[in-house]
Amino acid sequence: MHIDTVLLKVASRCNLDCSYCYVFHMGDEGWRAQPKRMSGETQALVGRRLRELRDAQGRPFSVVLHGGEPLLLGARGLGSLLGMLRRALGAECGISIQTNGVLLNADILDLCADQRIGLSVSLDGPAEVHDRFRIDHGGRPSHARVLAGVELLRAHRDAKTLFSGVLAVVDPATSPDAVYDYFRELGVPSVDFLYRDGNHSSLPYGKASVGSTEYGRWITRILNRYVIDPAPFRIRMLDDIIKLTLGGGGVKEGVGLTDYGILVIDADGTVKKNDTLKSSPLGDGFSRDWTVRHHSLAEIACSDEFLAYHRAQRPSSTSCARCPHLRICGGGMVAHRFSETSGYENPTVFCADQKMLIERALELVGHHLQTQAA
Ligand code: SF4
Repeated sequence: MHIDTVLLKVASRCNLDCSYCYVFHMGDEGWRAQPKRMSGETQALVGRRLRELRDAQGRPFSVVLHGGEPLLLGARGLGSLLGMLRRALGAECGISIQTNGVLLNADILDLCADQRIGLSVSLDGPAEVHDRFRIDHGGRPSHARVLAGVELLRAHRDAKTLFSGVLAVVDPATSPDAVYDYFRELGVPSVDFLYRDGNHSSLPYGKASVGSTEYGRWITRILNRYVIDPAPFRIRMLDDIIKLTLGGGGVKEGVGLTDYGILVIDADGTVKKNDTLKSSPLGDGFSRDWTVRHHSLAEIACSDEFLAYHRAQRPSSTSCARCPHLRICGGGMVAHRFSETSGYENPTVFCADQKMLIERALELVGHHLQTQAA
């Protein structure tokens, strides 16, 4: 067993109050029991456990500062945390921050540049798309403030290494062309498109039925734009789908059959499973209270419960087993397979959307290969 990614919840609260957030608006109130910020003592323990993990597995992994909103630590708090993580992990482990961008300032950018940290900003598209859901605690829109942070980031002398891209949650009711044009004009290096959470018993926002294809039509339109764009920004989900149709492997959870080892460390040092499971009845907690205070991350990664959770990533439904697209699709995210009647033994609730996207990708790749051969 090896770990690819460790998410550090360094701040358990957020300065925004996005209405679709799986941390604060999916019925899990666990964040209330967490300290607002990870203490210096817990940070030091986390650094020690991460170094032990790197030594135990003999290969690097990524560390992502998450929240809540990690920039709530402030420039000073972040500076000491990032310096400690770099000393513990050396240069070979990637360290990045997932932020809503509102609190970005010159001091934070300088210290991230000094420690070779990548920043990904949550931005859903133009104001009319972003501000439908990404609001603050007073119900005010956040787009203008996020954009000001992105502009600072883009103007930084080390923007090329600092700015890794944006994370955009898809709203299938919006125009994919408008979203694509917006990100292109903004000059972002990459976009990670995410679907809204849901499952067979609680359909994702925007999906009329399990068999409907609102997300499939939306993302296929993005694919159509992407493949003819002479200077596109990178779209990891589509790069993965294209690589998989050509027989290669993916790098992002949710497509392909690669197993990913992900651990989450909460602000109080508790170790949990992948955050995305919060929105499903499986939950993100372990039955045992694993914590960096008493347990090494390697010990947790080798536990029976972690291995069972890890194996659960593999699709187990008969529909997936018989599906010609299984190697490309992978059955989707575990949380999206759930139904009250059959647990997790289902294709993803986005199965019809995935089929539409994969079939279009196969068509485009086939056409491209034919043209090249001719
Ligand atoms: S397309 Fe549907 S049936 Fe096929 S592997 Fe994906 S989720 Fe399973």
